[in-house]
Amino acid sequence: MKARFRSDSRSLGTRSPVFQILLLIVAGGLGAFVTASTIGGCSALGGGSAADAIVIGVASFSHETCTFCPNPTGIEEFEFYGPPLRGEEVLGDGGYVGGFVHGAAEYRGVDVVGAYAVRGARGGSSGSWITTEAFEKYSAGIVSALQEIDSLDGVYLALHGAMAVTDVPRPEAELVRRVRDGVGDIPIFVTFDLHANEDHEIAEAADGVFIIKRYPHYDAALQGERAARILIRTIRGTYEPLMVARKPNVITPSVYQGTGVSPARDIMERARRWENRERDVFVSVAFGFAYADVPDVGATVIVMTDNDQELADRIADDMSDYIWRIREEFAGKILPKTREGVELAIAAAREGRTPVVVADHSDRTGNSTHILEELIHQGGSNFCIATISDARAIEQIAAAGGAGDTVTVDVGGYADEFAGNPVPITGEIEYLGRYGQFDQVAVLAFGDNNHLILTPALHQVTMPGIFERLGLDLDNLDIVVLKSRVHFRRGFHESGLAGAIFEVDAPGLGPADLTTITYENIPKDIYPVYQR
Ligand SMILES: [Zn+2]
Repeated sequence: MKARFRSDSRSLGTRSPVFQILLLIVAGGLGAFVTASTIGGCSALGGGSAADAIVIGVASFSHETCTFCPNPTGIEEFEFYGPPLRGEEVLGDGGYVGGFVHGAAEYRGVDVVGAYAVRGARGGSSGSWITTEAFEKYSAGIVSALQEIDSLDGVYLALHGAMAVTDVPRPEAELVRRVRDGVGDIPIFVTFDLHANEDHEIAEAADGVFIIKRYPHYDAALQGERAARILIRTIRGTYEPLMVARKPNVITPSVYQGTGVSPARDIMERARRWENRERDVFVSVAFGFAYADVPDVGATVIVMTDNDQELADRIADDMSDYIWRIREEFAGKILPKTREGVELAIAAAREGRTPVVVADHSDRTGNSTHILEELIHQGGSNFCIATISDARAIEQIAAAGGAGDTVTVDVGGYADEFAGNPVPITGEIEYLGRYGQFDQVAVLAFGDNNHLILTPALHQVTMPGIFERLGLDLDNLDIVVLKSRVHFRRGFHESGLAGAIFEVDAPGLGPADLTTITYENIPKDIYPVYQR
């Protein structure tokens, strides 16, 4: 049972504000004996003296699991870039953890101790079900690393929330319960991505939850900071978190969730409005991750108050009702399919609204050729596909020649059942070599000033810098096709660069039209899959 730490003798001991105020009065009576660190210890914001330091253990374990994708995610994938991080290394992780460390540093008398961090899995969210073996290994690793920390007062877990594990429903809540079993009843705070699939179980298992409010995910560090402040207040007894969760019963594809545009923006604005209206209230909304066939899929509202049940319920109901009310606008819209989308893009290019950005949002392996094939079919010119993931084609190109040579190669169309057909391309090698994290990428020029960037794995282009670095002039391109849902908006929409943007619903593992997916485990009345 959580929240018992409130009556723990430790929080009624030297760390209690009442005791500290008494200490101040006594010390103040003694005049000169009041030290700076004692004064610091008297303030809820200031923290305690070094001897009185509170200790917070930090761990992270994140995955966004696409259960419809072909390959399971096991230990090999999680350790492709190395074994889990331990100790200080955990705190250098940036993002949520970086924000947490930064937030905690505002307080004196707080020791933040890195425990355990599972690295990002190879293939990211193109990985399918996490194996039970991997979940057991890393949850045990997190628990034992936290147990090794002396006199632990609280735990911060940087999670994602859309983890799907074979035979472990609601894995994040399960992880929190295991941590509590392992370290005792101390406050446990969690941060999530807004793609989290969660429900009341996490609100019951954890003491505090913070979820990012922006997609692209700009506020990971900010939510880490907020988690640090409220966790520290909770440990010191100046905040008593009470959480409620609601499921509005609405599921949306990622491509509808960008918070730069309505109605996703309006939902997050409503959450911020509540946070601004009421003191010490934190309103989190996860839009959910639709490509995980799990029972807690879809939007989740989690409201945290300072032990005010009525207020928490009222806000959670308001947020949940609002999401339900705007469900058609939010979740019920229809995107153009491949042929129509390419027609729209070519027409916009002819009108001079260049560069036209086409978001091939549903391709989660990066190997799909539907839009490439349709652009060739419709006689498109001055376009660039950035990118198609095809390590095999890159190898064939490298074996056949170097920059300036002409090659013929079949590209893409095989990595998943929706990837389309391999497309034969005869073109000139414009670039062959390193790019970013990739040892080798290839760029081919073909047709009427068309270009194709090949990467060995899915590469989500979010910034326009890739074109210049690979020797391509964006000014000479009319249409660029990106394998991205929302993150591209940073470099192409928010920057004002794109003349027009079309989200095209080509066949793929992550379609916008969720009614085309065969789910087994999601609620049988969720909008819009089971009711329109
Ligand atoms: Zn996300």
